[in-house]
Amino acid sequence: MSSIVSTASERNYEDWLKAAEVIEPSGQAFIDGEPCAASSEETFEDNSPRDGRVLARVALCDVADVERSVSAARAAFEDGRWSRLHPRRRKEVMLRFAELIRDHAEELALLESLDVGKPIGESIAVDANGAANCIQYFAEMADKLMGEVAPVGPEALATVTREPFGVVGAVIPWNYPMPILSWKLGPALVTGNSVVVKPAEQSPLTAIRLAELGSEAGLPPGVLNVVPGDGPRTGRALGMSMDVDKLAFTGSSEVGKLFLSYAGQSNMKAVSLECGGKSPHIVLADAPDREAAISTVAWGIFYNQGQTCNAGSRLIVDRLVHDEIVSGVVELGRRLRVGDPLDPGNDLGAVVDGTQLSRILGYVEGARRDGGEVVLGGNRTLEDSGGTYMSPTVVDKVVAEMTIAREEVFGPVLAVLEVEGAEEALRVANDTVYGLAAAVWTRDIGTAHRIASRLRAGTVWVNTFDMGDLSLPFGGFKQSGFGRDKSMHAIEGYTQLKTTWVDISR
Ligand code: NAD
Repeated sequence: MSSIVSTASERNYEDWLKAAEVIEPSGQAFIDGEPCAASSEETFEDNSPRDGRVLARVALCDVADVERSVSAARAAFEDGRWSRLHPRRRKEVMLRFAELIRDHAEELALLESLDVGKPIGESIAVDANGAANCIQYFAEMADKLMGEVAPVGPEALATVTREPFGVVGAVIPWNYPMPILSWKLGPALVTGNSVVVKPAEQSPLTAIRLAELGSEAGLPPGVLNVVPGDGPRTGRALGMSMDVDKLAFTGSSEVGKLFLSYAGQSNMKAVSLECGGKSPHIVLADAPDREAAISTVAWGIFYNQGQTCNAGSRLIVDRLVHDEIVSGVVELGRRLRVGDPLDPGNDLGAVVDGTQLSRILGYVEGARRDGGEVVLGGNRTLEDSGGTYMSPTVVDKVVAEMTIAREEVFGPVLAVLEVEGAEEALRVANDTVYGLAAAVWTRDIGTAHRIASRLRAGTVWVNTFDMGDLSLPFGGFKQSGFGRDKSMHAIEGYTQLKTTWVDISR
């Protein structure tokens, strides 16, 4: 993910430790412009993967809270306090929202690093500032979106306009809580929708804080609501609501399929799904810059502890360069510093929680049993900290049939598949139910274009990986979902087309 503005922090490790001691995160829901408890008064414990410490007790919202927030969002939409505001006024409020996020970037980043364990520098540059940039990007569209006039002859005027859906439900995962939320909020709010957000139970804190900042920026009550809670209770209630018009989901393919079913069982709400991936990173024998390829392959999987939907989790490498590339990645992985996410000197932080750590370790064990060779890591580390840390891991001698080559691990684990030539690489790369992203390294421009056009993925990189920009759409093919975040195209996901005919002959 790239950012328009990224501010490095002046704070050192000691400063962050002190800040962590005094921060008091709110765990309250945010409904109709007010922080509040769940109507049942139930809460859940939100722990830090950094050291296991309890960060907050968070409101566990159930059907009653979800319905209350949906009603608040509906009322705000129907009375036009936001939906019928002059677009330039919406723009002003959203620009102020972006500015407030930027002003609070360090606080938000600290909350995120504590909540999900990602390195503090990344939380500032990619997560907090990334969210601010995204809200700004969409704010600037407010007074630039226009409709169409159809060529229907002199007797009539026919227009095509884009209208907001009304009430949008946004269900968010824990790996990039702020950027992914902003990818939904930006296009939803700028087009006049009201939003109810269900953050992941592992990462509710920044969504709650963002709702407070949105309100401070001038979003009217009911326009942005946050209902923390778990999937089966809170997420399901939002998916099943009869009064949510559009549900935007990012998370696993398994849960994405549930949202399709919730829509079918309720009011046929529109659904967009940004789901998982098992992205192939192909390195052919004629890769132009093998040193760059090595560091890009390594960062493509180890960044954010491997908990990235488009992580390049399958290295598909030509046998002629296999040893050089794999030993380079192993060497680089060995040098990475894993540790406290609040220490700006660390490269990797903690994985999100104990459940995720066990899942990752289970996949590595399974790969060993299936004949994979663990040539780096494969173990939990820093156990004494009380946190959930995992060593960067490389599993060689993987073949396409193994579970480690097929299922999303969502951890710092690279599976290496050796192939011979571009055609085999392409076949192995496409042999997956996912289609989020893919990359190929080759110096031959014909091969580059041929492979890029045949890779079944929403984003393809040539001689690079994980480049992105707000101006480009992001989303998947196949079971990686449908619909696109970011770019002008995201507007299509939060509006519906209206045709209006006017007979002008009389
Ligand atoms: P998840 O699917 O477990 O959870 C995502 C959200 O759905 C959470 O808010 C969760 O509470 C909710 N949920 C879980 N079970 C539910 C249920 N039964 N009913 C309703 N809601 C439910 O995913 P996660 O573990 O939070 O995130 C990791 C996944 O997200 C990975 O698969 C990753 O690839 C994917 N992801 C995709 C993208 C993308 O843009 N394509 C981006 C980031 C993450």
